[in-house]
Amino acid sequence: MDKLKKINRLAIANRGEVAVRIIKACEELGIETVLLHSEADILSRAYRMATKRICIGGAPVAQSYLNITANVQGAIAGGADAIHPGFGFLSENADFAEAVIKAGLIFVGPSAEAIRALGDKINCKKLAEKAGLPLVPGYKGEDQSLTRLISEAEKIGYPVIVKAAAGGGGRGMKLIKNSAEAKELIESAQRESLSAFGSSQVFLEKYLDRAKHIEFQIFGDSSGRVVHFFDRECSVQRRHQKIIEEAVSAALTPELRQQMGESAVAIATLGKYKGAGTVEFLLQDGKFYLLEVNTRLQVEHPVTEMVLGVDLVKAQILTAQGDFLFSAPSFSPRGHAIEGRVYAENSYQGGIPSTGLLGHVFFPEGPGRRFEYGFEAGDEITSFYDPMIAKVIVWDESRSRAIQKMIKVLQDSVIFGVHTNIPYLIEILKHPEFINGTMTTRFIENNFAEGLKAAKPSELEQSLIESARRGGPAVTLSSSRSPESAVSPWNRPWRLL
Ligand code: ADP
Repeated sequence: MDKLKKINRLAIANRGEVAVRIIKACEELGIETVLLHSEADILSRAYRMATKRICIGGAPVAQSYLNITANVQGAIAGGADAIHPGFGFLSENADFAEAVIKAGLIFVGPSAEAIRALGDKINCKKLAEKAGLPLVPGYKGEDQSLTRLISEAEKIGYPVIVKAAAGGGGRGMKLIKNSAEAKELIESAQRESLSAFGSSQVFLEKYLDRAKHIEFQIFGDSSGRVVHFFDRECSVQRRHQKIIEEAVSAALTPELRQQMGESAVAIATLGKYKGAGTVEFLLQDGKFYLLEVNTRLQVEHPVTEMVLGVDLVKAQILTAQGDFLFSAPSFSPRGHAIEGRVYAENSYQGGIPSTGLLGHVFFPEGPGRRFEYGFEAGDEITSFYDPMIAKVIVWDESRSRAIQKMIKVLQDSVIFGVHTNIPYLIEILKHPEFINGTMTTRFIENNFAEGLKAAKPSELEQSLIESARRGGPAVTLSSSRSPESAVSPWNRPWRLL
């Protein structure tokens, strides 16, 4: 059992909606907050909500959000006694967790040892192998010579995935379809890995071409007891990045759920896990394979919170204080929750990022609806960071009702000033393969490879455009508008400010 150590002021080494999420949990717990932010994040909701703000560096992430010293010093300068890393950035960096502890602060997350054991993809696979967990067939050896890697890829049989050992977020990952591509793609993965993660070590996996992504939320309390909070399905992915997530998966039988849940708890227990983490699996033809463990809060944690009635961020903070024990003998999910990630991007132009000042922002509140956002009217979406600007989460009694609710909620949500992927999310939710729950991780590639196609403007809209072109009656349409912007309010390039 950990020693009790009350947190009075928590520093947040993050930005955007997750920073807001952490501030809200702190407000409820009576904890003050210090936002450790970059120069580019003054116009943001978290900046306005935090008790204190400390600018830790310039806009580029290397100068601020990825700078360990700047974050630790910022927390100390702000009088914090703990740091929450959120997700992304330094959240899975064992050196950061260690530096925080060395500075006499509490790290809201697992120990540096647990991060090294489970967060490192190769260490995690080795531990999983010992525990007898099923792994995707592959090569994770020390010999990193090109000849060896190519011969291992041949042995596994194409298609093969090459992945950065230290990677994440889909970076440093390449799909090799045949031997002709092997050399170039392995070298490119090594280069990308070195520049993004400081290590060129890679490993190989057989590519599972009709798999579902299923993950289990795990949690280790202050006594060291690890439980799982059931599963999420995140098969809707673009370039290996999740877009829509659900809890729980419609694809699991009770037996599979039990086996996968037990495997997730087994690996987390072996890694002496404390706090919130996620064990990711691929599921294909009724068989599951461990993919990796994420040693942090996950972007999609709200769907688990909605079906289980738990608060994972509060539980994380209480665990870090040595103050959290599971009281319920067991948990069981109720109803169905779906999350859609709202990105500032133009879905009609292959998803290119969209930046600028936000105009009107409106989310239609209602029962079973939750909006996690970091930016409001007047705030700026810059090109420095991930383009995710909000998450829309819904809960309903059944999956079909949750889908119906999500479509309506997205249709009624308004974000002006930047393009968003809201129309794209709506089309995905309406797709028969999504509705019947059979989608695999190749769903987007197979159905929406190029994003959305522009629909033709209606006759009225066409006549307004032509009238505007002729200098006719005043219509407030920008002359640079693309044809699709005439049909969707989400895609209008004019600004309401
Ligand atoms: P990252 O840590 O970069 O997110 P992951 O290993 O978690 O990488 O994989 C991300 C996604 O890439 C998975 O959800 C899946 O869609 C795809 N993927 C990864 N490994 C495989 C594999 N062996 N076969 C098929 N798809 C895979």
